[in-house]
Amino acid sequence: MYVFWTVWICPDTVARVDTDQRSDVVRNRARLLSAARRMFAEFGPDVPFDRIAADAGLSRTTLHRHFANRDELAAVLFQENVADIEAAAARASASPDGLSDLFHFTLQLQLGVPGFARILSRSDVGGFSSLAERVAAAFSACLPGAERSGLLHPGVGVEDILIAFPMADAAVIEDRIAGRPDRSDRLHGLLHRALFATAEPERCCEPGGRGD
Ligand SMILES: [Zn+2]
Repeated sequence: MYVFWTVWICPDTVARVDTDQRSDVVRNRARLLSAARRMFAEFGPDVPFDRIAADAGLSRTTLHRHFANRDELAAVLFQENVADIEAAAARASASPDGLSDLFHFTLQLQLGVPGFARILSRSDVGGFSSLAERVAAAFSACLPGAERSGLLHPGVGVEDILIAFPMADAAVIEDRIAGRPDRSDRLHGLLHRALFATAEPERCCEPGGRGD
């Protein structure tokens, strides 16, 4: 039967069907990723895999065709975050306040999906440790400018900045578990004062990077 079909369908039709299928695949993947971002943000890292498919308006089978499991999906989102952090670092490295801008950008991105890094780091899914190294490198790139402008408190380095992220993550998760209102603005202020000698940027908590 297959042989007959290949005779009947002209090459143009095959090419068009192929392109349609490919763009469907691309569109579905984008829908799944943005649904995952919303669901992780709303329900945390343990959101059921099915729920992500439902939010995207796609079947569980389609979700599984794209991602083997929740951790793999989270790893792809984290890779996107890291790429955004690197792009922000490239923009920030020339500015005297670049390192603090990058810090707030990253903090905002991270607190949008609390607990995210934790699920990835526990099993090194998707090469988490190499992604973490890329984040450290992005911050290091902004360090010379920060040192020249006296942006950091004496003795504060990239290592200290990187410690702030899991601290903030834990605080937000605790608040969520306890059902307390969001205090991420206080967290931004507290951590900024601990690290930087400057006043906190006024509009630092604009939603940064991705989102819908
Ligand atoms: Zn901020």
